[in-house]
Amino acid sequence: MTSTPRQQRTHGQWAIDGPEPLNPNEEFKAAAGGLGVRQRVLDTYAREGFDSIPADDLHGRLRWWGLYTQRRQDIDGSRTGTLGPDELSDRYFMMRVRLDGGAVTTGQLRTLAGISADFARGTADISDRQNIQYHWIRIEDVPEIWARLEAAGMQTTEACGDTPRVILGSPVAGIAADEIIDPSPAIAGIVERFIGDPELANLPRKFKSAITGHPSLDVVHQINDISLVGVAHPELGSGYDLWVGGGLSVAPRLAERLGAFVRPDQAVEVWYGVVRLFRDYGYRRLRNKARLKFLLADWGPERFREVLEHEYLGYALADGPAPVPSGGPGDHVGVHAQKDGRVWVGLAPTVGRVSAEVLATLADAAEAAGSGRVRFTPQQKLLVLDVDPGRTDDLLAAVEPLGLTANPSPFRRSTMACTGIEFCKLAFVETKATAAHTIGELERRLEGVDVGAPISLHVNGCPNSCARIQVADIGLKGQLIKGPDGSEEFAYQVHLGGGLASADRDDAGLGRTVRGLKVTAADLPDYVERVTRAFVAAREPGESFAQWAHRAEEGALR
Ligand code: SF4
Repeated sequence: MTSTPRQQRTHGQWAIDGPEPLNPNEEFKAAAGGLGVRQRVLDTYAREGFDSIPADDLHGRLRWWGLYTQRRQDIDGSRTGTLGPDELSDRYFMMRVRLDGGAVTTGQLRTLAGISADFARGTADISDRQNIQYHWIRIEDVPEIWARLEAAGMQTTEACGDTPRVILGSPVAGIAADEIIDPSPAIAGIVERFIGDPELANLPRKFKSAITGHPSLDVVHQINDISLVGVAHPELGSGYDLWVGGGLSVAPRLAERLGAFVRPDQAVEVWYGVVRLFRDYGYRRLRNKARLKFLLADWGPERFREVLEHEYLGYALADGPAPVPSGGPGDHVGVHAQKDGRVWVGLAPTVGRVSAEVLATLADAAEAAGSGRVRFTPQQKLLVLDVDPGRTDDLLAAVEPLGLTANPSPFRRSTMACTGIEFCKLAFVETKATAAHTIGELERRLEGVDVGAPISLHVNGCPNSCARIQVADIGLKGQLIKGPDGSEEFAYQVHLGGGLASADRDDAGLGRTVRGLKVTAADLPDYVERVTRAFVAAREPGESFAQWAHRAEEGALR
Protein backbone atom coordinates (compact mmCIF):
# COMPACT_ATOMS: atom_id res chain seq x y z
CA MET A 1 0.00 0.00 0.00
CA THR A 2 1.44 3.40 -0.93
CA SER A 3 1.05 6.34 1.41
CA THR A 4 1.30 10.04 0.88
CA PRO A 5 3.71 12.18 2.96
CA ARG A 6 0.65 13.62 4.76
CA GLN A 7 -0.50 10.13 5.75
CA GLN A 8 2.93 9.25 7.05
CA ARG A 9 2.76 12.13 9.49
CA THR A 10 -0.58 11.12 10.96
CA HIS A 11 -1.51 8.51 13.55
CA GLY A 12 -4.59 7.50 11.60
CA GLN A 13 -7.02 8.97 14.14
CA TRP A 14 -10.56 8.94 12.77
CA ALA A 15 -11.51 12.24 14.45
CA ILE A 16 -8.52 14.06 12.97
CA ASP A 17 -7.37 12.19 9.88
CA GLY A 18 -10.59 10.64 8.66
CA PRO A 19 -11.58 6.99 8.36
CA GLU A 20 -9.39 5.90 5.44
CA PRO A 21 -7.90 2.54 6.43
CA LEU A 22 -4.11 2.65 6.68
CA ASN A 23 -3.15 -0.98 7.21
CA PRO A 24 -4.52 -4.45 6.36
CA ASN A 25 -6.32 -4.85 9.70
CA GLU A 26 -8.12 -1.55 9.27
CA GLU A 27 -8.94 -2.51 5.68
CA PHE A 28 -10.70 -5.75 6.56
CA LYS A 29 -12.62 -4.06 9.38
CA ALA A 30 -13.70 -1.28 7.03
CA ALA A 31 -14.70 -3.75 4.33
CA ALA A 32 -17.06 -5.66 6.61
CA GLY A 33 -17.60 -5.44 10.34
CA GLY A 34 -16.56 -8.28 12.61
CA LEU A 35 -20.00 -8.85 14.08
CA GLY A 36 -21.44 -9.82 10.68
CA VAL A 37 -19.42 -13.03 10.53
CA ARG A 38 -21.88 -14.72 12.87
CA GLN A 39 -24.49 -15.11 10.16
CA ARG A 40 -21.93 -16.60 7.78
CA VAL A 41 -20.98 -19.17 10.42
CA LEU A 42 -24.63 -20.13 10.80
CA ASP A 43 -25.47 -20.09 7.09
CA THR A 44 -22.29 -21.41 5.50
CA TYR A 45 -19.18 -22.26 7.50
CA ALA A 46 -20.80 -24.61 10.01
CA ARG A 47 -22.52 -26.46 7.14
CA GLU A 48 -19.68 -26.52 4.64
CA GLY A 49 -16.79 -26.89 7.07
CA PHE A 50 -13.42 -25.33 7.85
CA ASP A 51 -12.26 -25.02 4.24
CA SER A 52 -15.21 -22.79 3.36
CA ILE A 53 -13.94 -19.97 5.64
CA PRO A 54 -12.07 -17.20 3.76
CA ALA A 55 -8.87 -15.85 5.32
CA ASP A 56 -10.25 -12.48 6.46
CA ASP A 57 -12.97 -14.21 8.42
CA LEU A 58 -10.80 -17.09 9.62
CA HIS A 59 -7.94 -14.98 10.96
CA GLY A 60 -9.85 -11.77 11.50
CA ARG A 61 -13.57 -11.45 12.01
CA LEU A 62 -14.20 -14.72 13.85
CA ARG A 63 -12.46 -13.12 16.82
CA TRP A 64 -15.45 -10.82 17.23
CA TRP A 65 -17.27 -13.98 18.32
CA GLY A 66 -14.53 -15.35 20.54
CA LEU A 67 -12.92 -17.73 18.04
CA TYR A 68 -9.22 -18.07 17.18
CA THR A 69 -7.69 -20.98 15.31
CA GLN A 70 -5.50 -22.95 17.68
CA ARG A 71 -1.90 -23.94 17.01
CA ARG A 72 -1.14 -26.98 14.91
CA GLN A 73 0.14 -29.67 17.24
CA ASP A 74 3.13 -30.62 15.09
CA ILE A 75 4.77 -27.17 14.88
CA ASP A 76 7.39 -26.38 17.49
CA GLY A 77 8.31 -22.96 18.88
CA SER A 78 11.29 -22.48 16.55
CA ARG A 79 8.87 -21.87 13.67
CA THR A 80 6.51 -19.47 15.46
CA GLY A 81 8.20 -16.37 14.14
CA THR A 82 8.62 -17.54 10.56
CA LEU A 83 5.32 -19.15 9.59
CA GLY A 84 2.15 -17.33 8.64
CA PRO A 85 -1.22 -17.83 10.31
CA ASP A 86 -2.37 -20.38 7.71
CA GLU A 87 0.63 -22.60 8.36
CA LEU A 88 0.44 -22.25 12.14
CA SER A 89 -3.30 -22.85 12.34
CA ASP A 90 -4.94 -26.13 13.15
CA ARG A 91 -8.44 -26.86 11.86
CA TYR A 92 -9.78 -26.38 15.40
CA PHE A 93 -10.55 -23.28 17.41
CA MET A 94 -9.99 -21.82 20.81
CA MET A 95 -13.35 -20.44 21.92
CA ARG A 96 -13.54 -17.79 24.64
CA VAL A 97 -16.77 -17.41 26.60
CA ARG A 98 -16.96 -13.90 28.05
CA LEU A 99 -18.16 -13.95 31.64
CA ASP A 100 -18.44 -10.31 32.66
CA GLY A 101 -17.51 -9.92 36.30
CA GLY A 102 -16.52 -13.61 36.20
CA ALA A 103 -20.02 -14.42 37.43
CA VAL A 104 -21.88 -17.68 36.73
CA THR A 105 -24.70 -19.58 38.34
CA THR A 106 -24.31 -23.27 39.09
CA GLY A 107 -26.74 -23.91 36.23
CA GLN A 108 -24.45 -21.98 33.88
CA LEU A 109 -21.48 -23.97 35.20
CA ARG A 110 -23.25 -27.16 34.13
CA THR A 111 -23.84 -25.68 30.68
CA LEU A 112 -20.13 -24.79 30.46
CA ALA A 113 -19.22 -28.30 31.59
CA GLY A 114 -21.55 -29.91 29.04
CA ILE A 115 -20.07 -27.90 26.16
CA SER A 116 -16.59 -28.87 27.29
CA ALA A 117 -17.51 -32.56 27.39
CA ASP A 118 -19.44 -32.60 24.13
CA PHE A 119 -17.40 -30.30 21.91
CA ALA A 120 -14.03 -29.42 23.49
CA ARG A 121 -12.52 -32.80 24.41
CA GLY A 122 -13.10 -31.95 28.08
CA THR A 123 -10.88 -28.84 28.03
CA ALA A 124 -11.59 -25.65 29.98
CA ASP A 125 -9.23 -23.00 31.30
CA ILE A 126 -10.06 -20.11 33.60
CA SER A 127 -8.30 -17.18 31.96
CA ASP A 128 -6.80 -14.30 33.90
CA ARG A 129 -9.66 -12.16 32.61
CA GLN A 130 -12.36 -14.23 34.28
CA ASN A 131 -13.31 -16.00 31.02
CA ILE A 132 -13.60 -19.67 30.24
CA GLN A 133 -11.55 -20.83 27.25
CA TYR A 134 -12.12 -24.06 25.35
CA HIS A 135 -9.93 -25.79 22.81
CA TRP A 136 -10.55 -28.32 20.02
CA ILE A 137 -13.75 -26.59 18.89
CA ARG A 138 -14.92 -27.51 15.34
CA ILE A 139 -16.65 -24.87 13.27
CA GLU A 140 -19.46 -27.35 12.62
CA ASP A 141 -20.33 -27.33 16.34
CA VAL A 142 -20.31 -23.57 16.87
CA PRO A 143 -24.04 -22.94 16.22
CA GLU A 144 -25.01 -25.54 18.81
CA ILE A 145 -22.52 -24.14 21.31
CA TRP A 146 -23.85 -20.62 20.83
CA ALA A 147 -27.40 -21.88 21.20
CA ARG A 148 -26.59 -23.62 24.49
CA LEU A 149 -24.64 -20.64 25.84
CA GLU A 150 -27.29 -18.12 24.90
CA ALA A 151 -30.13 -20.24 26.28
CA ALA A 152 -28.23 -20.17 29.58
CA GLY A 153 -27.58 -16.39 29.44
CA MET A 154 -23.95 -16.47 28.32
CA GLN A 155 -22.21 -15.31 25.14
CA THR A 156 -19.00 -15.17 23.14
CA THR A 157 -19.88 -11.77 21.64
CA GLU A 158 -16.77 -9.56 21.41
CA ALA A 159 -14.79 -11.96 23.57
CA CYS A 160 -11.83 -11.21 21.26
CA GLY A 161 -11.16 -8.71 18.45
CA ASP A 162 -10.88 -4.91 18.39
CA THR A 163 -13.83 -4.54 20.73
CA PRO A 164 -14.84 -3.84 24.33
CA ARG A 165 -13.68 -7.11 25.86
CA VAL A 166 -15.05 -8.79 28.96
CA ILE A 167 -15.54 -6.38 31.87
CA LEU A 168 -13.43 -7.50 34.82
CA GLY A 169 -15.44 -7.22 38.01
CA SER A 170 -14.77 -7.74 41.67
CA PRO A 171 -15.36 -11.41 42.46
CA VAL A 172 -16.86 -10.38 45.81
CA ALA A 173 -19.25 -7.81 44.34
CA GLY A 174 -22.32 -7.47 46.52
CA ILE A 175 -21.21 -9.91 49.21
CA ALA A 176 -18.21 -8.41 51.03
CA ALA A 177 -18.90 -6.52 54.25
CA ASP A 178 -16.12 -4.00 53.58
CA GLU A 179 -17.18 -3.27 49.99
CA ILE A 180 -17.35 0.45 49.20
CA ILE A 181 -19.78 0.08 46.32
CA ASP A 182 -21.30 -2.88 44.46
CA PRO A 183 -20.13 -2.68 40.82
CA SER A 184 -22.70 -5.23 39.57
CA PRO A 185 -25.19 -2.64 38.21
CA ALA A 186 -22.47 -0.79 36.29
CA ILE A 187 -21.15 -4.02 34.76
CA ALA A 188 -24.64 -5.21 33.82
CA GLY A 189 -25.51 -1.78 32.40
CA ILE A 190 -22.49 -1.75 30.10
CA VAL A 191 -23.02 -5.31 28.91
CA GLU A 192 -26.74 -4.84 28.24
CA ARG A 193 -26.38 -1.54 26.40
CA PHE A 194 -23.12 -1.79 24.57
CA ILE A 195 -21.77 -5.30 24.03
CA GLY A 196 -22.58 -6.20 20.44
CA ASP A 197 -23.29 -2.56 19.52
CA PRO A 198 -21.94 -2.08 15.95
CA GLU A 199 -21.02 1.53 16.82
CA LEU A 200 -18.37 0.21 19.22
CA ALA A 201 -17.31 -2.86 17.25
CA ASN A 202 -14.49 -1.29 15.26
CA LEU A 203 -12.05 0.08 17.81
CA PRO A 204 -8.36 0.68 17.02
CA ARG A 205 -7.48 -2.36 19.17
CA LYS A 206 -8.85 -4.33 22.08
CA PHE A 207 -10.36 -2.26 24.92
CA LYS A 208 -10.08 -3.73 28.40
CA SER A 209 -12.30 -2.64 31.28
CA ALA A 210 -12.28 -3.33 35.01
CA ILE A 211 -14.69 -2.27 37.76
CA THR A 212 -14.42 -2.93 41.46
CA GLY A 213 -15.85 -1.54 44.65
CA HIS A 214 -13.71 -3.65 46.95
CA PRO A 215 -10.79 -1.99 48.76
CA SER A 216 -8.47 -4.95 48.08
CA LEU A 217 -8.22 -3.62 44.49
CA ASP A 218 -9.00 -7.03 43.05
CA VAL A 219 -9.32 -6.37 39.30
CA VAL A 220 -5.76 -5.38 38.29
CA HIS A 221 -7.06 -1.87 37.60
CA GLN A 222 -3.63 -0.47 36.73
CA ILE A 223 -3.32 -2.53 33.56
CA ASN A 224 -6.70 -1.96 31.92
CA ASP A 225 -7.68 0.64 29.32
CA ILE A 226 -10.37 1.93 31.68
CA SER A 227 -10.90 1.13 35.33
CA LEU A 228 -13.48 2.32 37.80
CA VAL A 229 -12.27 1.79 41.35
CA GLY A 230 -14.52 2.22 44.37
CA VAL A 231 -13.84 5.25 46.59
CA ALA A 232 -15.77 7.15 49.24
CA HIS A 233 -15.99 10.84 48.33
CA PRO A 234 -16.14 13.07 51.43
CA GLU A 235 -19.18 15.03 50.13
CA LEU A 236 -20.64 12.94 47.34
CA GLY A 237 -20.65 9.50 48.95
CA SER A 238 -19.59 6.23 47.35
CA GLY A 239 -18.58 6.14 43.71
CA TYR A 240 -15.58 5.45 41.52
CA ASP A 241 -12.12 6.82 40.82
CA LEU A 242 -11.44 6.85 37.06
CA TRP A 243 -8.23 5.34 35.65
CA VAL A 244 -7.27 5.06 31.98
CA GLY A 245 -4.49 3.90 29.70
CA GLY A 246 -2.96 0.83 31.35
CA GLY A 247 -1.66 -2.19 29.47
CA LEU A 248 1.27 -4.60 29.40
CA SER A 249 2.53 -6.53 26.34
CA VAL A 250 5.72 -5.27 24.71
CA ALA A 251 5.36 -1.61 25.80
CA PRO A 252 4.03 -1.93 29.35
CA ARG A 253 2.46 1.10 30.99
CA LEU A 254 0.47 1.45 34.19
CA ALA A 255 -2.85 3.29 34.00
CA GLU A 256 -3.16 6.84 35.29
CA ARG A 257 -5.81 8.51 37.40
CA LEU A 258 -7.67 11.37 35.82
CA GLY A 259 -8.47 12.72 39.30
CA ALA A 260 -12.17 12.47 38.46
CA PHE A 261 -14.93 11.12 40.68
CA VAL A 262 -17.64 9.11 38.91
CA ARG A 263 -21.00 8.87 40.65
CA PRO A 264 -22.69 5.45 40.43
CA ASP A 265 -25.32 6.85 38.06
CA GLN A 266 -22.58 8.20 35.78
CA ALA A 267 -20.52 5.00 35.56
CA VAL A 268 -22.05 3.55 32.39
CA GLU A 269 -22.02 6.93 30.58
CA VAL A 270 -18.41 7.58 31.53
CA TRP A 271 -17.40 4.13 30.27
CA TYR A 272 -19.27 4.88 27.04
CA GLY A 273 -17.50 8.24 26.74
CA VAL A 274 -14.03 6.73 27.17
CA VAL A 275 -14.64 3.93 24.68
CA ARG A 276 -15.93 6.40 22.06
CA LEU A 277 -12.97 8.68 22.70
CA PHE A 278 -10.72 5.70 22.03
CA ARG A 279 -12.65 4.79 18.89
CA ASP A 280 -12.35 8.33 17.51
CA TYR A 281 -8.89 9.42 18.69
CA GLY A 282 -7.03 6.10 19.08
CA TYR A 283 -4.08 5.53 16.77
CA ARG A 284 -4.95 3.28 13.84
CA ARG A 285 -1.92 3.61 11.56
CA LEU A 286 0.35 1.21 13.43
CA ARG A 287 -1.21 -1.71 15.19
CA ASN A 288 1.52 -1.82 17.80
CA LYS A 289 0.71 1.78 18.76
CA ALA A 290 -3.05 1.42 18.76
CA ARG A 291 -3.85 0.72 22.42
CA LEU A 292 -5.24 3.61 24.46
CA LYS A 293 -2.04 3.82 26.52
CA PHE A 294 -0.18 5.43 23.59
CA LEU A 295 -2.78 8.17 23.25
CA LEU A 296 -2.69 8.83 26.99
CA ALA A 297 1.10 8.96 26.92
CA ASP A 298 0.95 11.72 24.30
CA TRP A 299 -1.99 13.65 25.70
CA GLY A 300 -1.44 13.31 29.44
CA PRO A 301 -4.30 12.88 31.93
CA GLU A 302 -5.33 16.55 31.98
CA ARG A 303 -6.03 16.82 28.26
CA PHE A 304 -7.63 13.38 28.23
CA ARG A 305 -10.08 14.43 30.92
CA GLU A 306 -10.82 17.70 29.18
CA VAL A 307 -11.66 15.99 25.85
CA LEU A 308 -13.74 13.36 27.66
CA GLU A 309 -15.77 15.98 29.51
CA HIS A 310 -16.17 18.47 26.66
CA GLU A 311 -16.65 16.23 23.64
CA TYR A 312 -18.26 13.12 25.09
CA LEU A 313 -19.96 13.73 28.42
CA GLY A 314 -21.06 17.35 28.05
CA TYR A 315 -20.44 18.00 31.74
CA ALA A 316 -17.51 18.19 34.14
CA LEU A 317 -16.83 15.39 36.57
CA ALA A 318 -16.14 16.26 40.19
CA ASP A 319 -12.61 15.90 41.49
CA GLY A 320 -12.24 12.91 43.75
CA PRO A 321 -9.93 10.95 46.03
CA ALA A 322 -7.58 8.09 45.15
CA PRO A 323 -8.40 4.57 46.34
CA VAL A 324 -6.85 3.42 49.60
CA PRO A 325 -5.95 -0.27 49.47
CA SER A 326 -7.11 -2.39 52.42
CA GLY A 327 -9.09 -5.52 53.11
CA GLY A 328 -6.51 -8.25 52.53
CA PRO A 329 -5.29 -10.03 49.43
CA GLY A 330 -7.33 -9.42 46.31
CA ASP A 331 -7.38 -13.07 45.24
CA HIS A 332 -10.02 -13.82 47.90
CA VAL A 333 -8.73 -17.39 48.39
CA GLY A 334 -9.79 -19.08 51.63
CA VAL A 335 -13.01 -19.13 53.64
CA HIS A 336 -14.43 -15.64 54.34
CA ALA A 337 -17.55 -14.31 56.03
CA GLN A 338 -20.04 -12.51 53.78
CA LYS A 339 -22.04 -9.54 54.98
CA ASP A 340 -25.19 -11.68 55.16
CA GLY A 341 -23.82 -14.35 57.53
CA ARG A 342 -22.98 -16.87 54.84
CA VAL A 343 -19.41 -17.48 53.62
CA TRP A 344 -17.55 -17.49 50.35
CA VAL A 345 -14.95 -20.15 49.65
CA GLY A 346 -12.05 -19.10 47.43
CA LEU A 347 -10.41 -22.06 45.71
CA ALA A 348 -7.15 -22.35 43.78
CA PRO A 349 -7.11 -24.57 40.72
CA THR A 350 -3.55 -24.98 39.46
CA VAL A 351 -2.78 -22.30 36.84
CA GLY A 352 -6.48 -21.99 36.01
CA ARG A 353 -6.76 -25.39 34.38
CA VAL A 354 -10.10 -27.08 34.97
CA SER A 355 -12.15 -29.53 32.89
CA ALA A 356 -15.67 -30.66 32.10
CA GLU A 357 -15.57 -32.94 35.11
CA VAL A 358 -14.26 -30.27 37.47
CA LEU A 359 -16.91 -27.76 36.40
CA ALA A 360 -19.77 -30.25 36.67
CA THR A 361 -18.66 -31.64 40.02
CA LEU A 362 -18.06 -28.15 41.35
CA ALA A 363 -21.64 -27.21 40.45
CA ASP A 364 -22.97 -30.21 42.38
CA ALA A 365 -20.72 -29.56 45.39
CA ALA A 366 -21.63 -25.86 45.47
CA GLU A 367 -25.35 -26.62 45.42
CA ALA A 368 -24.97 -29.25 48.13
CA ALA A 369 -23.39 -26.52 50.27
CA GLY A 370 -26.33 -24.17 49.72
CA SER A 371 -24.75 -22.09 46.94
CA GLY A 372 -26.09 -21.22 43.51
CA ARG A 373 -23.28 -18.92 42.42
CA VAL A 374 -19.60 -19.16 41.47
CA ARG A 375 -17.22 -16.42 40.36
CA PHE A 376 -13.93 -16.66 38.52
CA THR A 377 -11.13 -14.24 39.42
CA PRO A 378 -8.48 -12.32 37.45
CA GLN A 379 -5.92 -14.52 39.21
CA GLN A 380 -7.25 -17.73 37.57
CA LYS A 381 -8.98 -18.74 40.81
CA LEU A 382 -12.65 -19.30 41.65
CA LEU A 383 -15.03 -18.47 44.49
CA VAL A 384 -18.10 -20.38 45.63
CA LEU A 385 -20.51 -17.78 47.01
CA ASP A 386 -23.32 -17.96 49.57
CA VAL A 387 -22.11 -21.14 51.27
CA ASP A 388 -23.93 -22.27 54.39
CA PRO A 389 -21.22 -21.96 57.11
CA GLY A 390 -22.25 -25.34 58.53
CA ARG A 391 -21.55 -27.05 55.22
CA THR A 392 -18.16 -25.49 54.43
CA ASP A 393 -16.18 -28.58 55.42
CA ASP A 394 -18.35 -30.79 53.22
CA LEU A 395 -17.71 -28.48 50.29
CA LEU A 396 -13.96 -28.47 50.89
CA ALA A 397 -13.92 -32.27 51.10
CA ALA A 398 -15.95 -32.59 47.89
CA VAL A 399 -13.67 -30.35 45.82
CA GLU A 400 -10.33 -31.52 47.18
CA PRO A 401 -10.20 -34.54 44.82
CA LEU A 402 -10.71 -32.10 41.93
CA GLY A 403 -7.44 -30.36 42.81
CA LEU A 404 -9.28 -27.38 44.29
CA THR A 405 -8.09 -26.19 47.65
CA ALA A 406 -8.93 -23.20 49.85
CA ASN A 407 -5.60 -23.49 51.61
CA PRO A 408 -3.01 -23.62 48.83
CA SER A 409 0.74 -23.33 49.30
CA PRO A 410 2.08 -19.82 48.60
CA PHE A 411 3.25 -20.86 45.14
CA ARG A 412 0.08 -22.71 44.14
CA ARG A 413 -1.85 -19.68 45.24
CA SER A 414 0.07 -17.11 43.28
CA THR A 415 1.25 -18.85 40.13
CA MET A 416 -0.45 -18.09 36.82
CA ALA A 417 0.31 -19.35 33.34
CA CYS A 418 -0.95 -18.37 29.91
CA THR A 419 -1.96 -20.89 27.23
CA GLY A 420 1.52 -21.29 25.75
CA ILE A 421 2.63 -23.61 23.00
CA GLU A 422 0.01 -26.24 23.72
CA PHE A 423 -2.56 -24.23 21.76
CA CYS A 424 -1.35 -20.64 21.11
CA LYS A 425 -0.01 -19.73 17.67
CA LEU A 426 2.17 -16.92 19.06
CA ALA A 427 3.92 -19.04 21.67
CA PHE A 428 7.56 -20.06 21.69
CA VAL A 429 7.48 -22.29 24.77
CA GLU A 430 5.32 -24.45 27.02
CA THR A 431 3.76 -22.81 30.07
CA LYS A 432 1.02 -24.56 32.04
CA ALA A 433 2.68 -27.95 32.53
CA THR A 434 6.01 -26.25 33.34
CA ALA A 435 4.31 -24.04 35.91
CA ALA A 436 2.40 -26.96 37.46
CA HIS A 437 5.59 -29.02 37.73
CA THR A 438 7.44 -26.07 39.26
CA ILE A 439 4.71 -25.55 41.87
CA GLY A 440 4.95 -29.21 42.91
CA GLU A 441 8.72 -29.01 43.22
CA LEU A 442 8.64 -25.79 45.23
CA GLU A 443 6.02 -27.16 47.60
CA ARG A 444 8.32 -30.08 48.33
CA ARG A 445 11.58 -28.18 48.47
CA LEU A 446 10.41 -25.12 50.39
CA GLU A 447 8.03 -26.80 52.80
CA GLY A 448 8.30 -25.05 56.14
CA VAL A 449 10.17 -22.02 54.72
CA ASP A 450 8.32 -18.84 55.64
CA VAL A 451 8.35 -16.70 52.50
CA GLY A 452 5.98 -14.08 53.96
CA ALA A 453 3.34 -12.96 51.45
CA PRO A 454 2.99 -15.40 48.53
CA ILE A 455 5.62 -14.81 45.83
CA SER A 456 3.82 -14.53 42.52
CA LEU A 457 5.13 -16.52 39.56
CA HIS A 458 3.68 -15.66 36.15
CA VAL A 459 4.64 -17.91 33.23
CA ASN A 460 4.19 -16.60 29.67
CA GLY A 461 4.84 -18.33 26.37
CA CYS A 462 5.91 -15.20 24.44
CA PRO A 463 6.45 -11.44 25.01
CA ASN A 464 2.73 -10.65 24.78
CA SER A 465 2.28 -10.91 28.53
CA CYS A 466 -1.18 -12.48 28.69
CA ALA A 467 -0.20 -13.76 32.14
CA ARG A 468 1.23 -10.36 33.13
CA ILE A 469 5.00 -10.87 33.11
CA GLN A 470 5.93 -7.38 34.23
CA VAL A 471 3.72 -7.17 37.32
CA ALA A 472 4.73 -10.44 39.00
CA ASP A 473 7.30 -10.96 41.73
CA ILE A 474 8.89 -13.41 39.30
CA GLY A 475 7.67 -12.90 35.71
CA LEU A 476 8.81 -15.31 33.03
CA LYS A 477 8.81 -14.40 29.34
CA GLY A 478 9.05 -17.44 27.08
CA GLN A 479 11.73 -17.72 24.43
CA LEU A 480 13.89 -20.41 22.88
CA ILE A 481 17.62 -20.62 23.56
CA LYS A 482 20.33 -22.88 22.21
CA GLY A 483 21.25 -25.66 24.61
CA PRO A 484 24.80 -27.01 25.07
CA ASP A 485 24.32 -29.48 22.20
CA GLY A 486 22.99 -26.80 19.86
CA SER A 487 19.38 -27.90 20.09
CA GLU A 488 16.69 -25.42 21.08
CA GLU A 489 15.35 -25.44 24.62
CA PHE A 490 12.35 -23.83 26.29
CA ALA A 491 13.57 -20.89 28.37
CA TYR A 492 12.37 -17.69 29.98
CA GLN A 493 13.70 -14.19 30.38
CA VAL A 494 13.18 -13.25 34.03
CA HIS A 495 11.48 -10.07 35.31
CA LEU A 496 11.73 -9.52 39.06
CA GLY A 497 9.89 -7.41 41.58
CA GLY A 498 6.87 -6.22 39.61
CA GLY A 499 3.46 -5.82 41.20
CA LEU A 500 0.20 -3.91 41.30
CA ALA A 501 -1.23 -1.82 44.12
CA SER A 502 -2.86 -3.90 46.85
CA ALA A 503 -3.43 -3.97 50.58
CA ASP A 504 -0.07 -5.73 50.88
CA ARG A 505 1.97 -3.19 48.98
CA ASP A 506 2.01 0.43 47.96
CA ASP A 507 4.99 0.17 45.62
CA ALA A 508 3.25 -0.82 42.39
CA GLY A 509 5.58 -0.95 39.45
CA LEU A 510 7.08 -2.98 36.67
CA GLY A 511 9.64 -5.68 37.34
CA ARG A 512 13.34 -5.31 36.59
CA THR A 513 15.35 -7.54 34.34
CA VAL A 514 18.83 -8.79 35.08
CA ARG A 515 21.37 -8.57 32.26
CA GLY A 516 21.58 -11.83 30.37
CA LEU A 517 19.45 -13.74 32.87
CA LYS A 518 17.54 -16.53 31.18
CA VAL A 519 16.35 -19.71 32.84
CA THR A 520 15.52 -22.93 31.03
CA ALA A 521 12.24 -24.68 31.79
CA ALA A 522 14.18 -27.61 33.22
CA ASP A 523 16.05 -25.31 35.61
CA LEU A 524 13.01 -23.29 36.65
CA PRO A 525 12.37 -25.05 40.00
CA ASP A 526 16.07 -24.69 40.88
CA TYR A 527 16.05 -21.01 39.96
CA VAL A 528 12.91 -20.10 41.90
CA GLU A 529 14.11 -22.06 44.92
CA ARG A 530 17.49 -20.30 44.77
CA VAL A 531 16.14 -16.78 44.45
CA THR A 532 13.50 -17.43 47.13
CA ARG A 533 16.11 -18.68 49.58
CA ALA A 534 18.31 -15.67 48.76
CA PHE A 535 15.38 -13.39 49.57
CA VAL A 536 14.54 -15.16 52.82
CA ALA A 537 18.18 -14.93 53.93
CA ALA A 538 18.65 -11.25 53.03
CA ARG A 539 15.29 -9.58 53.64
CA GLU A 540 14.91 -6.76 56.14
CA PRO A 541 12.04 -7.01 58.66
CA GLY A 542 8.77 -6.43 56.83
CA GLU A 543 10.43 -6.28 53.42
CA SER A 544 8.54 -7.79 50.49
CA PHE A 545 10.08 -9.91 47.74
CA ALA A 546 9.55 -7.05 45.30
CA GLN A 547 11.26 -4.48 47.51
CA TRP A 548 14.21 -6.81 48.02
CA ALA A 549 14.38 -7.67 44.30
CA HIS A 550 14.67 -4.00 43.39
CA ARG A 551 17.51 -3.32 45.83
CA ALA A 552 19.39 -6.63 45.52
CA GLU A 553 22.69 -6.95 43.67
CA GLU A 554 22.37 -8.71 40.35
CA GLY A 555 24.42 -11.62 41.66
CA ALA A 556 21.77 -12.44 44.26
CA LEU A 557 19.08 -12.63 41.56
CA ARG A 558 20.82 -15.08 39.26
FE1 SF4 B 1 -0.07 -16.89 23.62
FE2 SF4 B 1 1.93 -15.24 24.20
FE3 SF4 B 1 -0.52 -14.77 25.21
FE4 SF4 B 1 0.88 -16.80 26.12
S1 SF4 B 1 1.47 -14.64 26.32
S2 SF4 B 1 -1.29 -16.87 25.51
S3 SF4 B 1 1.98 -17.49 24.31
S4 SF4 B 1 0.06 -14.71 23.05
